[in-house]
Amino acid sequence: MSTYIPVIGLEIHAELLTESKLFCSCSTEFGGGKNAHCCPGCAAMPGTLPAMNRKAVEFAIKAGYALNCSFNKFSVFDRKNYFYPDLPKAYQNSQLDLPLCINGLVNIEYEIDGVKKSKDIRINRIHLEEDAGKLIHDDLNGVSLADYNRGSIPLIEIVTEPDIGTAEEAKAFVEKISLLLQYAGVCDCKMEQGSLRCDVNISIMKPTDAKFGTRAEIKNLNSIKSIGRAVEYEIYRQERTLEMGGKIIQETRRFDDNKGETRSMRTKENAQDYRYFPDPDILQVNFTDEELESIRKTMPEMPYERLERYKNAYGLSEADSMIIIGQIILSDFYDNAVKKYDNPKSICNFITGEMMRRINLGEISLEDLPFDAGEFALLVQMADTEKVSKNDAKSIFRIMSEKGGNPEKIAKEQGYLITNDTGRVLEVIESVIKNNEKAVSQYKNGDLKVFGFLMGQCSKELKGVCTPKVIKDELENKLSAL
Ligand SMILES: [Zn+2]
Repeated sequence: MSTYIPVIGLEIHAELLTESKLFCSCSTEFGGGKNAHCCPGCAAMPGTLPAMNRKAVEFAIKAGYALNCSFNKFSVFDRKNYFYPDLPKAYQNSQLDLPLCINGLVNIEYEIDGVKKSKDIRINRIHLEEDAGKLIHDDLNGVSLADYNRGSIPLIEIVTEPDIGTAEEAKAFVEKISLLLQYAGVCDCKMEQGSLRCDVNISIMKPTDAKFGTRAEIKNLNSIKSIGRAVEYEIYRQERTLEMGGKIIQETRRFDDNKGETRSMRTKENAQDYRYFPDPDILQVNFTDEELESIRKTMPEMPYERLERYKNAYGLSEADSMIIIGQIILSDFYDNAVKKYDNPKSICNFITGEMMRRINLGEISLEDLPFDAGEFALLVQMADTEKVSKNDAKSIFRIMSEKGGNPEKIAKEQGYLITNDTGRVLEVIESVIKNNEKAVSQYKNGDLKVFGFLMGQCSKELKGVCTPKVIKDELENKLSAL
C-alpha cells in the first residue's frame, strides 16, 4: 500500500476584514437577521451596477506580500457562471487568467515523532472573488430559503502548487497561512465561523508514473483537525481503490466529520464548464510600481520580524519567542505588557510559565481574559521588585484569572503585600525560636532538616511582611548566634 506517493494541493478561501462588501456598501459583519446586510446590488436586482471596494483589492495585495507573491499589475475580473440560488446573479465574480497575485512561497515547519521538518510550499496564485449566500434547507417542508448576508463578501482564494505530501504538511500549511493572514491584518481566520475554509485536491501516483493520478477534491473543510483526517482517509481510499483494481474518478467529495470518511458529491467541473468571461461592468485593475510599494509600506510587523525583535532586542530564546508569536492575540498581549513594564524577559517568563499553564488547563482563554496587559505587567513588576513574593504572585494571578482585578488591590486584600517591617520579622523569629525549643536544639545538634520546619513557622506569621529570602537569612543569623 505504501508504494504510492500522495500529491496534494490546497485551495484556501479567506474572508477579508473589510467593513463593506466587494461591490456595495453593505456591512460584512458576522450574524445579524436574515438578509439584514443586503441591498439591491448584492441581491442582484436588474439595473444595479458593481463598484469595486478599493480596500478589498489592497487587502488581497497585502495577502500577496505576506505569502511572498509577485503581482499582476494588470488584473481582470471575470464572471464564473453557474446557476444556483446561493448567488442571485447566476454568476460569481472571480478571477481566472489574470489574478492579482502569483508565484508565492510559504515555508512550513512541523514535527513528526520529535523530528523537526521544514518545507517550502509554492503558491500558484491568490485571486479576489465574492462569497456566495447561504441556503437554509431544514424543517421547511421541502422549501429552501436564501440568506444573502454573506453574499458578495470579499474573499481571497489562495491556490497552492501540488507540493504537499502528507496530512501533517497540509495541517502545518493551513496553520501557517492562518498566522500570516492574521498578522497581515486581512483576515481573522476563524475557521469555526467560516472566515477561513479549505478545499483539498488529492491524487496518488507510483514513483515510476510519468504524470499525476486522477484527483478528487474535498470541499469546505472547516477545522485543522478535519483537514488532517480528511487527507488521511482520502489517501487510504484511493490506495485501496487502486489496489482492488478500481479507478479513481475526478469528482468533488464531502468529508463526513462523524464517520471520518469522504463521500462523493458530484463529478468535478472543469474551468470551461463555468464559461468564464471578463465582466464588462467591472473596471480592470492597473497598478504602478509606486502604488504596489505604497501598499507594501502599510504591511504590519510579520511573525518573522517579531521573532527577530524578540530574540535580538528582547533577548528571548527562540523557543519562547515561537510560543508567543504562535498566536497573534498572545503576541499582541505580550507587546502591550512590555509597553507598560519594560522587562521583556520577566514578562515572557510569567506568560510561558504560569499563564500558559492555566491556559492549557482550560482555566482561562486568551480570547476572554478577565484582566488587561497593563494589570498583568503590574503583577510581574510587583514580583520583580519584591513587593510580593514569587509564590504569592502566582496566587494573585489565580485570583485575577478567576475574577479579574487590580493586582495591587488583591495583594493588599489578601495580605500578600511585603511591607519589609524588620522589627516585626525579628519579633516573629524570636518567638518561633522560643516556642520550639526542641526543634532548635535538634538543629544545633546538627539535624539541619528541622530548619524547614522552623522556616515554615516563621513564614506562616510573616505572610506579606517580607520575602522568604529575608526570613531565611534572619533565621539563620539568629540560630547561629545562639
Ligand atoms: Zn449590498
